[in-house]
Amino acid sequence: MQHFNHIFFAGAETPYETARYVVFGVPYDGTCSFLPGTRRGPQEIRRYTWNFEDYLPEYDLDFWTLPVCDLGDIEPDSLPETVVSQVEEIVTEIAADGKIPVLLGGEHSVSVGAVRALKPEAVVVCDAHLDLRDEFGGTPYNHACATRRFYDDGVRDITIIGARSGTREEFSFARDHLTLYTAEDVRKQGITAILEEVTKRLEGKKVYLSIDADAIDCCLTPGLGTPEPFGLTPLDIRAVVKSVGPLAIGFDYMEVCPIDHGQAATVAGKLIMEFLAVHATSHNITNSLE
Ligand code: MN
Ligand code: MN
Repeated sequence: MQHFNHIFFAGAETPYETARYVVFGVPYDGTCSFLPGTRRGPQEIRRYTWNFEDYLPEYDLDFWTLPVCDLGDIEPDSLPETVVSQVEEIVTEIAADGKIPVLLGGEHSVSVGAVRALKPEAVVVCDAHLDLRDEFGGTPYNHACATRRFYDDGVRDITIIGARSGTREEFSFARDHLTLYTAEDVRKQGITAILEEVTKRLEGKKVYLSIDADAIDCCLTPGLGTPEPFGLTPLDIRAVVKSVGPLAIGFDYMEVCPIDHGQAATVAGKLIMEFLAVHATSHNITNSLE
């Protein structure tokens, strides 16, 4: 009997043993600070992938032939620090098996578990928010603290692209310790020029790429728990995925809150496919099914 796979990421048809990419969802929004609902992000992203053609003309690639497995969703605990540990544990196992993890969020705090497991040399984050608070709402694992945790865990090379929201202290921390390209910088300099700088600096490094859905302007993808206007476009994020994606040892797409008409989940699903396609083609990872 065949499985009815519609709740899985479309085209992710490879069994875990032979997969090179492992998708899993973290349906958790326990520390959400404004609109709840990112716990429904992973399933909504998957649902909208079934709308897409499997053939990716730009890569001349049938997506289903990529060695991608979808494990489904983890069952998250209620405490954020425990969910971070759950994610760290599964990502450690995926990496030990020589595979690349791809997380579907879920709130941004759980990316901390993936970064802890993978110990990348650099992190690139696309986010409207700096997420550099030391703690928020009584916990250092609030989603407003994600990027600060990456730093405190020892990742010193952190690039934030698309930020336009944070406290005075967060902005001064970012300017002192990280590489910051605000949404306004992207508008003025253009994403192509910025990415040339970024990829030159990161060449040869092991990079973790984390996309917070709210990096994109809330008027374009309204399915966001903490919406911000004057942001990046889906094409800007696609440019990031295409140029930084090949360097990535792990990838996540977080903070999709399906309270819109599917725009946020649609963009997420397509960009995850884009990540898988660009990473696989640049590393000559192709059909493991034949
Ligand atoms: Mn974030
Ligand atoms: Mn954000």
